[in-house]
Amino acid sequence: MKNVYYFDEGDYKNRRLLGGKGAGLCEMTHLKLPVPPGFVITTEVCKSYYAKKGSLPGGFMAQVKKGIKRIERDTGKGWNSRDDPLLVSVRSGAAISMPGMMDTILNLGLNDTTVDALSRSSGDPRFAWDSYRRFVQLFGKVVFGVDDSKFDKILDGAKKDAGVSSDAALAEDSLRGVVKKYKEACRKHTGRSFPSDPDEQLELAIRAVFKSWMGERAIVYREKYGITPDVADGTAVNVVSMVYGNMGDDSATGVVFTRNPGDGTPGLYGDYLINAQGEDVVAGTRTPEPVASLRKTMPKSYAELERTCRRLEKHFREPQDIEFTIEKGRFYLLQTRAAKMNAVAMIKTSIDMVKEGLIGRERALVRLDAGQLEQLLHRRIDTEAAGSHERLTTGIAASPGAATGLAVFDVKKAAEMGEAGTSVILVREETKPEDVPAFFAAAGILTSRGGKTSHAAVVARGMGKPCVVGASDMKIDYSSGSCSAAGTAIKDGDEITIDGSSGHVFLGRVPTIEPSVTGGLRTILEWAGKAKKLGVRANADTPEAAKLARSFGAQGIGLCRTERMFNAADRIGLFVEMIMAGSAAERKGILDKLGRLQRSDFAKILRVMEGYPVTIRLLDPPLHEFLPNPEELAGRLREMKPGPEERRARTVLDRARELAETNPMMGHRGVRVGITYPEIYEMQIRAVFEAAAGLAAKGVDARPQIMVPQVGSLSELGAVRDIYDRIRAEMEKKHSRKLKINFGTMIEVVRAALTAAELAGPAEFFSFGTNDLTQATFSFSREDAEGKFLPEYMEKGLLDTSPFQSIDEDGVGRLMKMGAADGRGRRPGLEVGICGEHGGDPSSVRFCHGMGLSYVSASPHRIPIATVAAAQATI
Ligand code: PEP
Ligand code: MG
Repeated sequence: MKNVYYFDEGDYKNRRLLGGKGAGLCEMTHLKLPVPPGFVITTEVCKSYYAKKGSLPGGFMAQVKKGIKRIERDTGKGWNSRDDPLLVSVRSGAAISMPGMMDTILNLGLNDTTVDALSRSSGDPRFAWDSYRRFVQLFGKVVFGVDDSKFDKILDGAKKDAGVSSDAALAEDSLRGVVKKYKEACRKHTGRSFPSDPDEQLELAIRAVFKSWMGERAIVYREKYGITPDVADGTAVNVVSMVYGNMGDDSATGVVFTRNPGDGTPGLYGDYLINAQGEDVVAGTRTPEPVASLRKTMPKSYAELERTCRRLEKHFREPQDIEFTIEKGRFYLLQTRAAKMNAVAMIKTSIDMVKEGLIGRERALVRLDAGQLEQLLHRRIDTEAAGSHERLTTGIAASPGAATGLAVFDVKKAAEMGEAGTSVILVREETKPEDVPAFFAAAGILTSRGGKTSHAAVVARGMGKPCVVGASDMKIDYSSGSCSAAGTAIKDGDEITIDGSSGHVFLGRVPTIEPSVTGGLRTILEWAGKAKKLGVRANADTPEAAKLARSFGAQGIGLCRTERMFNAADRIGLFVEMIMAGSAAERKGILDKLGRLQRSDFAKILRVMEGYPVTIRLLDPPLHEFLPNPEELAGRLREMKPGPEERRARTVLDRARELAETNPMMGHRGVRVGITYPEIYEMQIRAVFEAAAGLAAKGVDARPQIMVPQVGSLSELGAVRDIYDRIRAEMEKKHSRKLKINFGTMIEVVRAALTAAELAGPAEFFSFGTNDLTQATFSFSREDAEGKFLPEYMEKGLLDTSPFQSIDEDGVGRLMKMGAADGRGRRPGLEVGICGEHGGDPSSVRFCHGMGLSYVSASPHRIPIATVAAAQATI
């Protein structure tokens, strides 16, 4: 089998086989761009490496050697040559890019002989020895697992001995000493001498890259980003002839985006370093220069860079993230890939590229990651309030959004505290790929070193986490857990606020403000609105939430949970009275008062949603949810003095105990409450009719519909339908007008899905409550499963994602399809929607579109996601 593809042989569309980086290198080679010669080892080899427990396919290394021969031919250099040695980089690259998650080795092929040859051929012994020490360090770390700190210590010692402060100031002699000590450190760690045969080095390096696919940080990354084996199931390995950005002041290396990945502004964005190798830029160990200054320092190369970027964008029809190296004035491309951008930048570039004629509207929509749009709805710093807060420092704004949290300097501690629910800001000099688990747990990231393309910046941007980098006046002292900048100091655990949009870092908590729909998002939502077939409604229970939903483009309310209204401060007392009422007559009196309040609540929401349907759901939770917790109340009672208050508390406690249930989710809730306390549902239904009649009289086009929760049988639904019919007749008579208010049911009990044909008799619409339906289908508690055993299910590969986030298509989805089809069989044209949390999840929205639902309903902040996902489903 062909395991190795030379760059001009690879089918550059086949990312699955060649990985993203490999496919990009092949494609650029086809485009005749200046890519150093090299080859790709396929992801199939990685798969087979794992299937065969670490052995490589027969004949594989022979293919690799043939590849090396071809590089020798193309570069005119020789493998293990004593004259002009060929060195290569060995880099990972899976089908889906996982920046910094796997390993890379540079300058492979160096040994005590070739280093001298390189000294002579380059005419620069210092360069040769600097390359050698970098190689030994990377190889030692990646292949042998030697801790970085060992190498750092040796390098620091050498700098101290030489009396210099930067790596670049170390002379050849010192570097020779460093290499010797590095090799010694490797020998101590492994018990074997450092390999000098380039063939052996190469095989070990390839194996190490394969191993890194299953390394902890790669696994964590795949889990968090939902990179499942069906999209990427191994890494390719790219073996590329080295070009050197560290060959003096006419050499450089850099990373640029063709457009700003933080806000989408056209034009090159990124950094470069003169006389350096790629790792220096990405690792953030030296603070690089913005790419704009390359125009002055190397105008010819800058022009070539600009030209190449334009060409790549035009070709890929997507902003690119590229790595380049300039070797003695000669320009090379080492990588190109679709730029990872935040949501603001994705939106702006979508619109700009349409304007520039680079792409059409469909592509502009499809390229968006719908889930990412939630970032746009991130909180911002309240700039006015920020004025009165003391500023600790200002760094480079690397990933927008504001975050407040406790400053934590230790990576492990930050991960632990974050996972335990504390809001933390990870504060470091620089970050490394192994720190990524702490990124997920932190609310934001702050570093004192590095530029816009440093590791911290790239990773944070991908996650949409606020991040400030390169706050260089900040001095961190890890040993004492403190940090100071311009005379202000903080300790580990002090609260700070970072603003990833301006780079400012404040002491304490700075107020933040809600975001709003910006011009760009509005345009995208307009395009998506035209393209989509599914309706998008909101789950909203207050006029404010309804307004917000309208501003995001909601076409109605798919779920108004009326119980939330009873929890408001001015009602809860009344509601408790109602529950405590000794007789139906007493209860009726209180319900009248509650009815008036509900009526005005409904009227306000209906007004905001004028012209759009508003689905009002009758009371759902069990009554005891409105009473104090019996344990707590009993505790309080023990401290109370006898008297009227104490007597009242005692009766409440008795009632709370009477209503308590062992299994409340399956208990006396939803329609069951409506059956046993019909006066409650009566009150609510009447309030809806009164509100609608009142608005109709004022000429407002109010369109409420009434929905019953937890229905499992025709008889239950029929009982409520009888109440509805009676009140409707009464109301139409009272107001002397026809009141069109549809009556429907939730489908969230398994039996409802199974008997949907019958339910479609009294029900004029259905709405899937996929939260409860998922709970009931799996018998997983929706309250506990995600915090208890589901993470382990996912770790062990028993589930890809939580069924409470994305619809389980095979189980819950099957019930939905059956329910919708049976319902529509009985009542053609039946409106069928979904109002569980899944309504705001892109893959569930796609599923709902596919099964022909009428609409999805999601919380207001997820309306943009649902709208774009619904449009994408049609493309
Ligand atoms: C549901 O169960 O999916 C639903 C929308 O209702 P609730 O979340 O209020 O139980
Ligand atoms: Mg429910």
